[in-house]
Amino acid sequence: MNFSEYCMLKESKFFKLDDNILTQLNNILDKFYINLKKDKIKNNQTIGKIHTINFNTNKEINISIIIKKDKVSTFKLYYEKSTGEIFINYYYINSESRDPKILSRDYLYMLLTHEITHAVQRYKKTSEEYKIASNELIQGKELSHPEHYYNEPMELEAQLTGMMYKIKKTFEASKIINLKLFSKNAWENDRERLLLALKSFIKSPYSEYKNGRKLPKFFEPFSSLLDSLYTDKNLWKKFKLKLMNLYTELEKEYLD
Ligand SMILES: [Zn+2]
Repeated sequence: MNFSEYCMLKESKFFKLDDNILTQLNNILDKFYINLKKDKIKNNQTIGKIHTINFNTNKEINISIIIKKDKVSTFKLYYEKSTGEIFINYYYINSESRDPKILSRDYLYMLLTHEITHAVQRYKKTSEEYKIASNELIQGKELSHPEHYYNEPMELEAQLTGMMYKIKKTFEASKIINLKLFSKNAWENDRERLLLALKSFIKSPYSEYKNGRKLPKFFEPFSSLLDSLYTDKNLWKKFKLKLMNLYTELEKEYLD
């Protein structure tokens, strides 16, 4: 495979994390949610470390996941480049203003796959506009130029990785719940419904969704990202290509 073929292939697929990273992440979240329910989380507590390889340096790294529980932090989650740590704001995970109060495990899983992508991704250069936008988020403000944030290459890669894992989790969760509580038939119907929602999104012009058509549920947390992507024709085209490949993958992965 030559370099341009490699680039084409890379652009047609979502960036994926090693299965080994995902297993470590699942174990950390299992323990975290038990301790969260027992109210055993303290400020600056390291809830786990992910051991992996940094693709740039080929060196082994440990990504610490740390909880901030101090009532002054305004961020939700972020990756600190200088120390290689991921911070989670406890009061975002456990928020009085949300119903239910505790953020779902699958949602936090998605957010952490995003932050872990930042920790291992190749491209870390960022524009000035992006730095300004990131600071707005850390301060808990609204983004004044969402596309400066979402369409920045390294941010987009992490956003799309999180989105891909959100879609995958939706299929995984449906399979587990339907087979456990209902029947194989119920799972097959839901699988068809999910695949159809994805296919229909790929084939339909996005303007329909902008004009009131309901987004598939797994895209709901990403409406700002989708709107920003849509402002750039080239990025939108590549995004649709990634989704098409994901659709084929899901169809195979969930054959029965
Ligand atoms: Zn990010």
